[in-house]
Amino acid sequence: MQKIVLKVGGSVISEKNLDRLADFPLTIAEIKRRGEEYMRLDEIARVGREIKEAMDEGGFQLILVNGAGPFGHLLVKKKRPDEEVRASVRFQNERFVSELRACGLDVVPIPPSESCVFADERFDIDYLWEIAQMLLEEGKTPSTYGDMLADGKIISGDDLVALLAKKWRADRIIVATDVDGVYTKDPNAKAEASFVKQLRVADSGAKLEYTLNSIDITGGMQSKVEKLKGAAAAGIECRIINGMKPGNIKAALLGDEGFGTSIVA
Ligand code: ADP
Repeated sequence: MQKIVLKVGGSVISEKNLDRLADFPLTIAEIKRRGEEYMRLDEIARVGREIKEAMDEGGFQLILVNGAGPFGHLLVKKKRPDEEVRASVRFQNERFVSELRACGLDVVPIPPSESCVFADERFDIDYLWEIAQMLLEEGKTPSTYGDMLADGKIISGDDLVALLAKKWRADRIIVATDVDGVYTKDPNAKAEASFVKQLRVADSGAKLEYTLNSIDITGGMQSKVEKLKGAAAAGIECRIINGMKPGNIKAALLGDEGFGTSIVA
């Protein structure tokens, strides 16, 4: 059975429009009251249906990772207390999970702040991985997310994707974001950006230019590519796709390689 790690980007499941984010709630009490307004619940439900259909059709096991969007990045930028940041990303993940469960998926959250540490200059995800394995054995789908660990150390969804895929010896990583893949320049800012169908681990990346979304604190597309190169070097097939286009996530899960940017060794 194929082993797939699917990352659903913060950009797919939550609000990105900076004007709308001006009113984003910054305390956990407020986030619980109106945080949902900043989640794209319809998109999450669509993603959930696509995953469910793919799982019903194809023989694969899945680990899910979601990005934090404003629930993480914005609170850190605004220097909110660590506990509030953790509660915020946890709120977002729980809401994500409950929407997926409503689609019939047996998804179970694993908070990194309760299962990972940063020690000796590296992330130790052993305990998270143990829980994930237990859940997979029971036929469930683990769902983890970008979070803040002890001492304010941030583990991004993209960190977790690469680390988990290597531990699991996953066959494939699919990263769903809000653009078709990697371009020579940010396609949202530069009309002349051209699409890159394939990136090799050995490519220096010198011809690629990236811009960072103003609230992003974990490196955006550039760091996504770097982390995926690490996984590709370990023999894992990696693909960045547009998760906003209906049907893409299902097709990618079922093995369609006709779209997105692949990152290969
Ligand atoms: P996610 O929240 O899904 O992890 P990010 O917002 O971190 O995604 O990254 C996706 C964004 O990266 C796109 O919306 C795009 O504007 C930006 N971006 C910057 N440089 C590039 C590039 N060279 N190619 C593709 N996207 C880029």
